[in-house]
Amino acid sequence: MKDIRTLSAEQLTDYFISIGEKPFRAKQVYDWLWSKNLHSFDEMTNLSQDLRRRLTRDYCINPISVDQLQRSTDGTIKNGVRLHDNLLVESVLIPTETRTTACVSSQVGCSLNCEFCATARLKRMRNLEVAEIVDQVALIDQQSKSYFNRPLSNIVFMGMGEPMMNYKNVVEAIRKITEPEGLGMSPRRITVSTSGIPKMIKMLADEDLKVKLALSLHSAIEHKRNEIMPFSEKFPLTDIMEALQYWYEKTGSVITFEYCVWKGINDKDEDIKALIRYCRKVPSKVNLIQYNSIGEGKYDQSNPEAMNDYVRQLERAGITVMNRRSRGGDIDAACGQLANKSADA
Ligand code: SAH
Repeated sequence: MKDIRTLSAEQLTDYFISIGEKPFRAKQVYDWLWSKNLHSFDEMTNLSQDLRRRLTRDYCINPISVDQLQRSTDGTIKNGVRLHDNLLVESVLIPTETRTTACVSSQVGCSLNCEFCATARLKRMRNLEVAEIVDQVALIDQQSKSYFNRPLSNIVFMGMGEPMMNYKNVVEAIRKITEPEGLGMSPRRITVSTSGIPKMIKMLADEDLKVKLALSLHSAIEHKRNEIMPFSEKFPLTDIMEALQYWYEKTGSVITFEYCVWKGINDKDEDIKALIRYCRKVPSKVNLIQYNSIGEGKYDQSNPEAMNDYVRQLERAGITVMNRRSRGGDIDAACGQLANKSADA
């Protein structure tokens, strides 16, 4: 049976007309589905019993469900999320003093091959549906309310998968999350993180979504980046920069470079200099991410001196730099650690 949430607003209206109902029924159902995130026709109390039965015969609503919930000592919550076809992804709630961030997945597994990332070890099984992305957000919003007494404030597409490789559904999910008829959240509190696919960055800039963009850089030296992130051979740093400049021209939104510093890999002066040269080309800031070990021998968090060097030199060059604290490491919920581990055990 077809999931009713694969229909657009127009298709929903057409359906109601085709069964002899008034078009406003489509609005009512759209509201239950996309604003109230309801998962059963039975609870749509402003529809007649007959109509609810008819809907149940014609369509299904595939919800996600929490397979396993783990809590970190720092408050981070990791959800193992079961999809209707039994596949699993992970969604993380990250609380701070002032905000709650949802880290959502866009694909089951990932087709890219970043050597330092646990998700890259999983085969890409499929793209997530629009509703499966929106459901993760609604789920974490509920959890934020019940565990922390406040609604979700921020969303980052930094869970499993590469959002640009599930472009259409990610864009449509963002529309559902931000439109007043949907969840009504602010797009400025949404960050799409990408490993850097120039063509898609430009396309996203043209959507006029008002979201923020983060680019996983890790090295501004071409041959090094290609070693760390082999797929990027196809996407030279100059092409990425051209796309980022286009992004800034179109959106006026500053780009965040995500960057891990590893011992013996990118912890030298030449690495810092290359990074400074690169990020000067576009309004940007640098987020130094602590490396979360995935048990891969080659990669080790650099020593604190190297990190300090990065911070000092970037600041001296007038570039904003943040030293991001890692969260949820004790339950494998931190960046790059999402690999459905608890579920395999
Ligand atoms: N595919 C997207 C989003 C998912 S990864 C992207 O690449 O941006 C989210 C962030 O975590 C990326 O910046 C990624 O490079 C980083 N990351 C991956 N593995 C990591 C690890 N083991 N430790 C720290 N950060 C990691």
